[in-house]
Amino acid sequence: MFLEVSGLTKSFGGITAARNVGFSISSGSIFALIGPNGAGKTTIFNLITGTLQPDQGVISLEGKQLVGLKPHQIAAAGITRTFQNLQLFGAMTVLENVVTGAYLKGRTGFAKSIFCRPGKSSEERRIKNEAMELLDEVGLADAADLPAAALPFGQQRLLEIARALASGPRLVLLDEPAAGLNSAETKVLAGYLKKLRNKGLTMMLIEHDMDTVMDVADGVLVLNFGEVIAEGTPREIQTNPEVIKAYLGEV
Ligand code: ATP
Repeated sequence: MFLEVSGLTKSFGGITAARNVGFSISSGSIFALIGPNGAGKTTIFNLITGTLQPDQGVISLEGKQLVGLKPHQIAAAGITRTFQNLQLFGAMTVLENVVTGAYLKGRTGFAKSIFCRPGKSSEERRIKNEAMELLDEVGLADAADLPAAALPFGQQRLLEIARALASGPRLVLLDEPAAGLNSAETKVLAGYLKKLRNKGLTMMLIEHDMDTVMDVADGVLVLNFGEVIAEGTPREIQTNPEVIKAYLGEV
């Protein structure tokens, strides 16, 4: 298995945000975490990316143990994420935002130089071309020189994913990528995620939009009060009585 999680437990004072959570994800698939507000989904992302340390449990990426590593070490192992609240650099251009993703590839020298004297060395050109290709894939190449803040919200979401991809990740964690998108934008997003999966990228998704989950996810884990209440294909989850009671019935 590509990512294996077992016995993951994390408490904050009296609140157990994750209790004995386990799941595994195969390479090149999309795995969704769903559940009501406060179910523990973001906590799982924070534990995988090392911004939180678990009280107990194991997280391994292709057999490499991640628990105990620092966030930058986990990023270097190939895991990156996007956030529920967009974290773009609004005053920087769309292209510059994607180029900052290259920092995680250890290209700090490049990233520094591109803003000071853009486009000089062949390395700079190569990275810029890579960033333009990522933008092209999300239909943002023509907007490369605009400030990121000038883009409509749906395009900013796509830009954030493109930036995450610039680090060359093997696993991308997407925190509510469809939040705030209209239905046309959501369809574009879903198509993009499926295209990335076809290229072999593995993704985890926290998502409240069930149509998107049903459309893109290969596997779904349902959390409630920090515990796994169901796991299966989107179709299995949709018809699971416990899931309907705890979550889907409320949507
Ligand atoms: P949402 O869908 O609203 O984002 P979630 O499923 O992502 O919710 P978490 O954010 O993981 O849920 O929160 C799970 C529980 O842990 C909640 O009760 C939350 O208040 C609590 N919690 C999360 N982080 C902390 C923290 N740093 N300190 C204290 N409590 C926390």
